[in-house]
Amino acid sequence: MKEQALLGDEAVALGAIHAGLSSAYGYPGTPSTEIMEYLMEKAKSEGADALKARWCVNEKTALEAALGASFAGKRTMVTMKHVGLNVASDPFMNGALLGIKGGLVIAVADDPGMHSSQNEQDSRFYASFALVPCLEPRNQQEAYTMTREAFDLSERFRIPVLLRICTRLSHARSRIRTEAGRDRNPLSKTDNKTQWMLLPAYAKQNYISLIEKQAGLKEWSEAHSANKLELEGRDRSLGVITSGLGGNYYEENLDDFVKSRGGRIPARLHIGAYPLPEASIRRLCEKAERLIVIEEGQPVIEEKIRGILPHSITIDGKLGAAAMNRTGELDPDVVRRGLGLPERPSVLSAAVLPLATLPARPPQLCRGCPHADSYETVKKAVRELDGAGGHPNTALNSDIGCYALGALPPYSVPESIVCMGASVGMARGAAEAGLKYAIGIIGDSTFLHSGITALIDAIAADTPMTLIILDNSIVAMTGYQQTMLSSDKLRPLILGLGLKSEHLLELEAKKNLLEENTVKLKKEIEYRGLSVVIFKRECLEAFRKRRKAEANNEE
Ligand code: SF4
Repeated sequence: MKEQALLGDEAVALGAIHAGLSSAYGYPGTPSTEIMEYLMEKAKSEGADALKARWCVNEKTALEAALGASFAGKRTMVTMKHVGLNVASDPFMNGALLGIKGGLVIAVADDPGMHSSQNEQDSRFYASFALVPCLEPRNQQEAYTMTREAFDLSERFRIPVLLRICTRLSHARSRIRTEAGRDRNPLSKTDNKTQWMLLPAYAKQNYISLIEKQAGLKEWSEAHSANKLELEGRDRSLGVITSGLGGNYYEENLDDFVKSRGGRIPARLHIGAYPLPEASIRRLCEKAERLIVIEEGQPVIEEKIRGILPHSITIDGKLGAAAMNRTGELDPDVVRRGLGLPERPSVLSAAVLPLATLPARPPQLCRGCPHADSYETVKKAVRELDGAGGHPNTALNSDIGCYALGALPPYSVPESIVCMGASVGMARGAAEAGLKYAIGIIGDSTFLHSGITALIDAIAADTPMTLIILDNSIVAMTGYQQTMLSSDKLRPLILGLGLKSEHLLELEAKKNLLEENTVKLKKEIEYRGLSVVIFKRECLEAFRKRRKAEANNEE
C-alpha cells in the first residue's frame, strides 16, 4: 500500500489505471480536465501501446470510441464535464442497453455554482434516466476506490457506470492510500453481438435485459458500504440524508447541531451509490417526523423520496419551506443554516476575510489576446453597417471558449452564448428569420467540436450569414490542449464542405490591421450568401508557454 497526495481528478485517473485501464477518451472541460491530463502523462511514460489516453473532437466521439474499446474487451474510460454529457447523451442512453464487455466508466465532473460552466445540471439525473448505476465519491480516497470499483461493477452487470464528481472534489488535493494495480484485460471481442446491435428486434430484448438488471443493481446499492445507515442509539424522530460532499459539510456542523438538540444525534443515511437504496431510506424514515436532505447539486434524492415516503413527514432539503439554497454550491455555512444553527464566523464570512473590501476582479481576456483584436474588428464593422448601440438588424451569436469573455466590457460583442457549437445554428436561424446581418462567432476547437455540423446545414441552404472562426490554434480556456486539427487544415476542410472559395477569408487578428480587416469583414457580412471569415493568431499564453518549452529544450 502506498500513500500519495492527489487532486480528486488525479485520484480518479489513478484509480482507473490501477483497475487495468487500457484506453481513455475525453473532451477538456473544467473541472474534469485534469483526469485526462494525468492519464496522458502516464501514457507518455508507459508508451502509447500500453495505455491510450486521447482528447477527442467532442464528448460524443469520445464515448463512441470507448464503446468500441469495450466491445473489444478492454477496460476504458470517458472523461467530460457535466454539459459534455448532453453532447454524449445519444451514445450514453443507447450504451446502457449494450452488453458491455470491457468495463466502461463515464467520469463526469459537475460544476454546481457554475464556476466555469453555463448551467448547474446534475449528472445523477442522467444515470437515473439511462438506468445505469452511479457512484458519487465524497473525498479523494473514495474517488480512487470507487473508480476502481466502477470497472468491476461495469463488467459484473455488463453496463456502463457513471462516476459523478464535483468541482470541490476535482480540484482539491488530499493524501490517499493506493493499492497494487491489476493487469489489463486481454483483447477478447464480445461474445454476443446481438447485445451490441440496437436494431429494433435486438434493442427490445436488450432493453428488457436492462430492466432486469435493475433488481440486481438495487441489491448492490442497498449493500454498498458507501450507503451507510446509522440508526443505533440515534434519535429516529429526525432523519438526515446526505450524499457526496454534502456528507462532509454536515459532519463539519454535527457537534453544534447535536448540542442544539440537547445531545440527541439524528438517525442518518449517507448515500454514495445509486440507484437509491430505497429500503434504507424507508428504514431511516420509519419513525421520522422530519427529514433533512443535504446533497450537492440538484435535489435528485429529495425529489425521488418525496414520491417514496408518506406525506406526514416534513422534508427539508432544497425544495421544502426551510430550504437550503436551490442554486449554487453547498458549503458548511449553507448546511448550517439548513440545520437551523446560528451563524458563526467562517473562512467565508467577512469577519475573517473581508471579501467586501477586496477589489472586484471580473474575468477578462488576457492583455494582448488575439480575440481582443478580432472583437474590435467585429464591433467596428457592425457599428459601421448597423449603427452603434442596439444594432437592430444584426444578430451576434457567440460560443463557449475564452472569447465568451468578449461579452463583457470593453468589447460587449456577443448577444447570445448557449452551448458548444450553438452559435452557428443560431446565426442560421436568425438569418432565415429575416435579420439582415446574422453572425456566428466560434473558436477553432468549438467549431470542430460541434459547430461544423450546423455549418453543413448552412452551406446546403446557402444561408445569408457570416461565420467568424477565431482560430487561436489551441484549446486555451481549459489549459492549452491541442486542437484536433491544426490551423492549416481549417481552410481545406471548410472548402471540402462546399463553401465558395471566394467567400472564405483568412485574416490576421492584429491591432494594426483593424482598418483593413474591418473593410474585408464588412464586405462578407454584406454578402447575401454564406461566408466564413477566419481570424488567425496564436493564443498569447500558449505562445509564451511554447516558447518557454522550446527554450528549455534547447538548454
Ligand atoms: S488564454 Fe489565450 S485565448 Fe484565452 S484570453 Fe488569454 S490570450 Fe486569449
